Amino acid sequence: MALIVQKYGGTSVGTIERIKNVAQRVKKDYEAGNQVVVVVSARSGVTNRLIEDAKTLHSNPDTREMDMLLAVGEQETIALLAIALHSIGVSAVSRTGAQAGIITDDVHTKARIMEISGGDIPQQLADGKVVIVAGFQGWNKKGQITTLGRGGSDLSAIALAAALNADLCQIYTDVDGVYTTDPRIVPEARKIEQISYEEMLELASLGSKVMQSRAVEFASKYGVVFEVRSSLNNNPGTIVKAEVPSMEDVLVRGVAADKSQVKVAVRNIPDQPGTAAKVFQALADANVNVDMIVQNAGRDGKANLTFTVPMDDAYTAEEAIKKKMAEASLPGVEVFTDRIAKVSVVGIGMRSHSGVASQLFTAFAQNGINIQLIATSEIKISVAIDMEKADQAVRVAHQTFNLEQA
Ligand code: ADP
Ligand code: ASP
Ligand code: MG
Repeated sequence: MALIVQKYGGTSVGTIERIKNVAQRVKKDYEAGNQVVVVVSARSGVTNRLIEDAKTLHSNPDTREMDMLLAVGEQETIALLAIALHSIGVSAVSRTGAQAGIITDDVHTKARIMEISGGDIPQQLADGKVVIVAGFQGWNKKGQITTLGRGGSDLSAIALAAALNADLCQIYTDVDGVYTTDPRIVPEARKIEQISYEEMLELASLGSKVMQSRAVEFASKYGVVFEVRSSLNNNPGTIVKAEVPSMEDVLVRGVAADKSQVKVAVRNIPDQPGTAAKVFQALADANVNVDMIVQNAGRDGKANLTFTVPMDDAYTAEEAIKKKMAEASLPGVEVFTDRIAKVSVVGIGMRSHSGVASQLFTAFAQNGINIQLIATSEIKISVAIDMEKADQAVRVAHQTFNLEQA
């Protein structure tokens, strides 16, 4: 008997038929003698629709009210799945994030998990019940509903697996596992058998939405080994776990694209110590994630700073910088934003091999893809490019490193 935490994403519970399918899968594992905790997402499209509704009413809706609204999506699914299980003779109960004891900080719409008590889940499991938990949501110490950022049900599942000391953690989705790149963009993409936390974290942070990056971060911190696999077949998926030496043999593990990024250019800032600190302090205080930072020496004692932020944070970022500059009595500073795509190649093999950057840049040049910004780490190279060229760039990168070949 094992304790299994399974997570089913939006498409996997998108229709009544799909919910029935999930119920059958859960029943099979339950009847094999396992204790099963199921984490579910909102049905596909529901969260987006709720966000759109809010945005038609207000351009920058209050984040506490957004959490109140968005948590509804997952709550619908837990009840439907519980009812579906009852109808096939499986004893099951649903729990909201708060009922599962998922306590977060106060940052509405991207709250971090502080602790998990598990509520009465162990007791329910001991009583022979399947427990269905609403993903993506928790509550803070003031008793307010919070959400964990887009794709946050992945995090709910990983965190519950850690808290309950589960034997298995399975992330069920609409693809067979983690691929060398998004199979919807490159049909030749290959399923990866196993991948290190570090690579998975980079891919997720750089736009591969198959896993939420915070979920991977959490798994790595607490050593939760998990499998990403399909809810529509029984094919083996991708195992995500700590690095083993053989993983270094692969130079580039995968290619990611992020099409929801904005390039922010801050011009005419005084070229003196402390100014960049002010800009980034303002962004940190506003909870904006910044990447790909470049500073150019300007003229006449002025400099320009350029960096990227998620599109959803563009407005917040611009306002935060303007406010900080006004407070610091730095007039004349200008902020420009521009949509871009970020395309990245990732692989721990890059640590011990050189030449990946030159190969990639040459391939982009040959295909007329202009590079606007570059950022590198030990295991990744990211470039900001024109939005329209994103898919082409992914294909070119995938081909350049022969990722379609085993
Ligand atoms: P869920 O609703 O199950 O959480 P998501 O839509 O969040 O599913 O994530 C699954 C999708 O991620 C796939 O349908 C695929 O298009 C996309 N994706 C992006 N990059 C990758 C990748 N490297 N491997 C697999 N899927 C990827
Ligand atoms: N429903 C949430 C979202 O769409 C959380 C999730 O699906 O994981 O982002
Ligand atoms: Mg997801």
